[in-house]
Amino acid sequence: MQPDELFKAAQARAASLSLPRAQEAQEQLRAQALALFSKIPEPPVYHRVEDPARKAAEALLPELEQLLALALALGRAGARMESTERILAALTAHGEALCHTESGRLLQAEEAWRRALELERLAHPTRSLGVKETSVPPVYDRGTGASRFDPKNESVAQVKLLCPNTGCKRINDYGYVPGPGTHPYVCPACKTPFLAYFGELRGLEVEVRRASKRYFFTVDEVRGAGSSRIEFEEASGEEFPVARRDLLVFLYTEARELKAVVNLTNNRLMWISPASSCFVVTAAFGEGAPELVAFREFRDEVLRRHVLGQEFIRAYYRHGPGVARWVVERPRVRRGVRTVLTQVHRVLSKTRSGRT
Ligand SMILES: [Zn+2]
Repeated sequence: MQPDELFKAAQARAASLSLPRAQEAQEQLRAQALALFSKIPEPPVYHRVEDPARKAAEALLPELEQLLALALALGRAGARMESTERILAALTAHGEALCHTESGRLLQAEEAWRRALELERLAHPTRSLGVKETSVPPVYDRGTGASRFDPKNESVAQVKLLCPNTGCKRINDYGYVPGPGTHPYVCPACKTPFLAYFGELRGLEVEVRRASKRYFFTVDEVRGAGSSRIEFEEASGEEFPVARRDLLVFLYTEARELKAVVNLTNNRLMWISPASSCFVVTAAFGEGAPELVAFREFRDEVLRRHVLGQEFIRAYYRHGPGVARWVVERPRVRRGVRTVLTQVHRVLSKTRSGRT
């Protein structure tokens, strides 16, 4: 196949494509393009008829054509942002490389592939913060007098973080020296410390439950060797778009309570509305109790609809953790709370069956 044929086919497909919401389409394009890039084979160095790279290139062409069409359609809808523009450029170069690889034009394939890699890097703005240096500097550079063994000047990146402390949530620029581990910061607005854990997304599983979602993030340490698994339950039901290799920041209070996750690559934020901390109820019944489900439904279906209910939820989250700790430490109180809650639960169950 010639690159021209591929691009014509993509344009024809774009013309008949009906787009979902622009922002969703952009996220879809980004995630799928990054997934595709990681599968694209290096062009073979020697000419062989039965080369596995040629077969692989042939197999990837339909997927690439589809993504090209999506990017082109976004442009036609006037919804193409700069980031989409960059992905389109990388897709185009990879498309050329795949066509040449598939047809055995190895020199052109090599040239397009190198260009595609550079464009791919540009299409992923935070990638350079996350990876280790790939180009090894010369042992001694006569021109600059620099040696590979000189101490490195780690560059400080500016990142936008928000203060996870209760009642603050203010956004500020913070300096960030890429490196593993938790980074301590102090919010200039409320003068309260907080912690930020940076990681590159390797995998994400989402388990959808009745009134919440459980997230399992696997992230690679930035410029470190390790990886971590971070899991939590979240009840807001909001979408959190991510793609492999996105740079994420997990924001904790000083007491190591996870409050928010920021995706620095696409500037999306998820506040963790604490499903797993239906605090008072959890303390009295224990996590996983069937009563919890009823209370959460009550919260979502009844309380959230009323102004007073919303006030109650806010107060509950503000004071809940403290109260819960207090309850857990006192078995007699715990029994008392449980009795009261059981009564409430009985009433709730009745209302519920009455409503449905
Ligand atoms: Zn603050």
